[in-house]
Amino acid sequence: MDRRGFLKVSTIMTCGGICDLYADTNRYKYLQDYEHKDFTAIFQKLKMIQRQVGYGNFNIISFDEALKIAKRHKHIGEFNKKELKLMEKIFYMDASTLGFYGKRTVRDIAHKIDTTKIVKIENSGHYLFKGKPKEDYKKILKDVGSTLKLTSGVRSVIKQSYLFYGKVIRLNGNLSLASFNIAPPGYSYHTIRDFDVGRKDWGYSNFTSRFATTKEFSKLRRLKYISMRYGINNSYGVRFEPWHIKVIL
Ligand SMILES: [Zn+2]
Repeated sequence: MDRRGFLKVSTIMTCGGICDLYADTNRYKYLQDYEHKDFTAIFQKLKMIQRQVGYGNFNIISFDEALKIAKRHKHIGEFNKKELKLMEKIFYMDASTLGFYGKRTVRDIAHKIDTTKIVKIENSGHYLFKGKPKEDYKKILKDVGSTLKLTSGVRSVIKQSYLFYGKVIRLNGNLSLASFNIAPPGYSYHTIRDFDVGRKDWGYSNFTSRFATTKEFSKLRRLKYISMRYGINNSYGVRFEPWHIKVIL
């Protein structure tokens, strides 16, 4: 089976009715051939910026700050006009054309995370918004137990871009399948309140449907003050994400 055929089958297996789009490979949206080089260059620069500022800081870095850091450090190099244009195109595109039906959470690519409104969570490298998200997380730890941890919190537009671009590259430019696995920048609830949890020492398995088989997940399901943003066959057009906590305001 070729790669596309395999992706088609494996997606149907994890998806269900809502994802008809993903069963129809003719409707997949891809990066244009001429965009691949710049897209990869952007991803590499973002990766180097992360190395430069550190994992924790990179979670909350703004677009403007990222541009400044790239310019300031010769080994990274300034983003050129073509790269900036492509970043804007990806950010401002209508994600529903890819098959992602979530609402836009951030309107402006230059959106800044207000650092007075977030708090760093010890030993996680991640931040949470103060107020309901932070309170929920504290309650979750109490109710589920110390085997649970924060695996991803606040994500700026840049951090979300980094994750999305990486996924697109691993999927050979398939923007539709990438958006099934991760919200495009501008559409993530991590940028405004949600967060992910997982089992300590479970690594990448925390971001697979296997997380739904854990005792931690069973306990999470019983909690009334939170919800699951991306359940099975959700209306967002996103895969089942049992680890993603929807903060209810
Ligand atoms: Zn998440």
